[in-house]
Amino acid sequence: MSNEGAAINPFETAKRQVDVVCDLIGIHGGIREMLKHPKRELTVNFPVRADDGSYSVFTGYRVQYNMARGPCKGGIRYHPNVTLDEVRALAAWMTWKCAVVNLPYGGAKGGVICDPRRMSPSELERLTRRYAVEIAPIIGPEMDIPAPDVYTDSQTMAWIMDTYSMGKGYGVPGVITGKPIALGGSEGRGEATGRGCAYVIREAAPHVGLKVKGARVAVQGFGNAGSVAARILSEELGAQIVAVSDTKGGIYRPEGLVPAEVAAHKARTGSVVGYPGTRPVSNEELLELDVDILVPAALENVITKRNADRIRAKIVAEAANGPTVPEADVILHEKKITVLPDVLANAGGVTVSYFEWAQDIQGYFWTLEEVNRRLEQVMVRSYAAVHHEAEKRKIDNRTAAYVVAVGKVVDAIRLRGIYP
Ligand code: NAD
Repeated sequence: MSNEGAAINPFETAKRQVDVVCDLIGIHGGIREMLKHPKRELTVNFPVRADDGSYSVFTGYRVQYNMARGPCKGGIRYHPNVTLDEVRALAAWMTWKCAVVNLPYGGAKGGVICDPRRMSPSELERLTRRYAVEIAPIIGPEMDIPAPDVYTDSQTMAWIMDTYSMGKGYGVPGVITGKPIALGGSEGRGEATGRGCAYVIREAAPHVGLKVKGARVAVQGFGNAGSVAARILSEELGAQIVAVSDTKGGIYRPEGLVPAEVAAHKARTGSVVGYPGTRPVSNEELLELDVDILVPAALENVITKRNADRIRAKIVAEAANGPTVPEADVILHEKKITVLPDVLANAGGVTVSYFEWAQDIQGYFWTLEEVNRRLEQVMVRSYAAVHHEAEKRKIDNRTAAYVVAVGKVVDAIRLRGIYP
């Protein structure tokens, strides 16, 4: 897969995006500067004992980008390539994502420089608990609520919840989301990103003259987000999933695949590859197939200026974060391909995280039907707001989503005023 754009400093990109939107909606001076600076950054260096008794020092971050609209929300990433600028950028993007779907949150992100694939479960538990203690002074249900991200999961969240609760002397489920249901997690959280993405595609389709029923769909990345989006598009909305892929490669069947059966094959064999009755396609080829809807649901920077011109889908729905590099965005816009940007198309995940937090705080839990009904309302309303802005200003959906988001944050900053 191309990694074009990987060398670009993500925080420079994030700041450039703010400038573009501020130029468009006339935000200047101090408020624009505020939008380009994280409110609070914490760097922590802490020792973790390995299973062989030796110690190493790890570095972690928690960046709270903007709190004007409410407590901060954003995941924690474990990866060897984590940098402070990456965490800053991800925290900025969480700020805009929460605002696009109108959650009462600001944005944050955390990260620890480590290689979890080379650590044992007990080493990961010690790292997680120590990192949780180090960032504990600035997290909490009313301040900053972390969640899973790359190489962290519901078990990581359970350890953070337990560690934070030990410090308080009582259980605090609302300090973190993405927890196991047994600890106050929400019904529907596991499939929320894919489901939300499917709802946004359904809402956008009529505006590009497309019927989702019978539409041909290719999904790159048959993981949590991608496999669920495929299943809902197929089972609930009648679309035809013709191609899916994972790290090992892709499969193509023009007559359509049954996502649940492909998922069972992947669970059995470790990959979608080799599913009977399909022909193999590479991850690059999958992006360029003759389909109506393309769902990149794996990595960032896969749609670049090298392949954007060959994309044939009418809708590109970004279940993944950052799959389209800015140069490619321009090409897709010229080709009149409708991009449903990541801050909208994958916001179902953070939306149900918000529901999880709301349920934890009330100690009152909703049914799966209730969660899905409210998720649908949020996605429908948010798509409509972005589409309205795009039509009104004759701009692409990504810029429109940023206009909606930045506008909301600016309103909150102005109403609160500058202290003192
Ligand atoms: P995941 O690990 O469950 O799935 C990722 C899938 O992509 C896997 O099937 C993997 O095999 C595949 N993949 C990885 N590298 C690939 C490559 N080089 N080529 C092709 N396929 C590859 O992860 P996920 O939670 O589904 O996340 C996927 C994307 O969605 C990420 O960008 C993530 O940030 C974004 N996202 C996820 C959520 C969520 O709630 N899960 C929320 C918002 C955004």
